[in-house]
Amino acid sequence: MRNFEYESPESLEGAIQFLSASQAKPLAGGTDLIDHLRTGRVVANVVVDIKKIPELNVLEINDSGLRLGAAVSCMKICQHEGIREQYPSLTDACTIIGGIQIQSRASVGGNLCNSGAAADSTPALIALGGVCVIAGPDGTREVPVEEFCTGPSENILKQGELLTEIRFPLPQGKSSSHYRRFIPRFEMDIAVVGVGASVSLDDAGEQITAARVALGAVAAKPFLAEKVDEFLVGQAPTEEVFTQAGEIARGLISPIDDHRGTAEFRTHVTGVLVRRVLTEAAQRAAAK
Ligand SMILES: Cc1cc2nc3c(=O)[nH]c(=O)nc-3n(C[C@H](O)[C@H](O)[C@H](O)COP(=O)(O)OP(=O)(O)OC[C@H]3O[C@@H](n4cnc5c(N)ncnc54)[C@H](O)[C@@H]3O)c2cc1C
Repeated sequence: MRNFEYESPESLEGAIQFLSASQAKPLAGGTDLIDHLRTGRVVANVVVDIKKIPELNVLEINDSGLRLGAAVSCMKICQHEGIREQYPSLTDACTIIGGIQIQSRASVGGNLCNSGAAADSTPALIALGGVCVIAGPDGTREVPVEEFCTGPSENILKQGELLTEIRFPLPQGKSSSHYRRFIPRFEMDIAVVGVGASVSLDDAGEQITAARVALGAVAAKPFLAEKVDEFLVGQAPTEEVFTQAGEIARGLISPIDDHRGTAEFRTHVTGVLVRRVLTEAAQRAAAK
C-alpha cells in the first residue's frame, strides 16, 4: 500500500478543503476504501476521515421524513426502531451487508459512493425516494438517488464534493417497503439480483396508489424500473399483478454472465424477486 496523509476534520468546510486537493479521498467506514488502496484500485495522497463531521452523523425522523447522515453505520440503522417501522427496506438491506463487524463500520453513504452495481442499500434507497445532499466548494446540491450512480464504480461527485446525507419523504397512510437479494450462499456474498420496492395502498388496502421498484446487479448501475411503477398504479395488490410486474421488470434489464450466474438465470430470478418483494411490501403496507 502506498503511503498517504491522514486527516480527520471536524467540520464540513474543513473536509471540503482537504478533498479539493487532487488525489484526496473520503473515508467513512473504510470497508471498501482500505481494500481499494491496498490493491491499488484507488490511489490517494490524502485520506480524509469524515466520521467526526456532525452533518454526516445526523439520524432523525421528523415531520418531513428521514435524514440519514452519509457516515451513519449500517449497525445504527439496523438498531433504529423508527427506521424499521417507517423505512423497513433500509433495515432489510443494512441487515445483510457483510456480517456484524462490517455493519459496525460500513455506512450507507459509502455503499452508495462506492457505486457498485450490486450494492445492497442502493435499490432500497431508490425505492424509498431518497434524495442525496451533496456539499462541495461551489455550495450544496440535491440529486435523486437514482441519478447518483453513472456506471460501475462511477458517480456524479466532482473533486472536493462530499455526500453529506440522504433525505427520504415520510411514508403516508398504508405505505411500506422491502428489499431482498438473491445470493448463492446464505450470507457474505454479492447480490446476483437485488430488488427494492415501496408500495402505497388506498385506505381499504384494495388498490395500489403509488409504487417504486428498483433493480440492482442486473445493469451497469442500480436503477428505477419506472415502467413497472406505471403498470402497478391503479391495480389490485394481487399475486397475478405482481407476477406481471416481474415480467415487465425482466424486459428492462441488461444483466451480465459471470461466475455468480448467467444472464438467463439473472433474468429469471429478477421476475421471481420482483413478485416476492412486491408481495412483502404490499403485505407490510396493508398491515399499517
Ligand atoms: C467482508 C465484506 C462483506 C461485504 N458485504 C457486502 C454486502 O453484502 N453488500 C454490499 O452491498 N456491500 C458489501 N460490502 C462492501 C462494503 O462494506 C459496503 O460498500 C460499505 O457500505 C461501504 O461503506 P464504508 O462506510 O465502509 O465506505 P468506505 O470504504 O469508507 O468508502 C467507500 C467509497 O465511497 C467513498 N465515500 C465514502 N463516503 C463518502 C461520502 N460521504 N461522500 C463521498 N464519497 C464517499 C470513499 O472515498 C470510497 O471511494 C462488503 C465488504 C466486505 C469487506
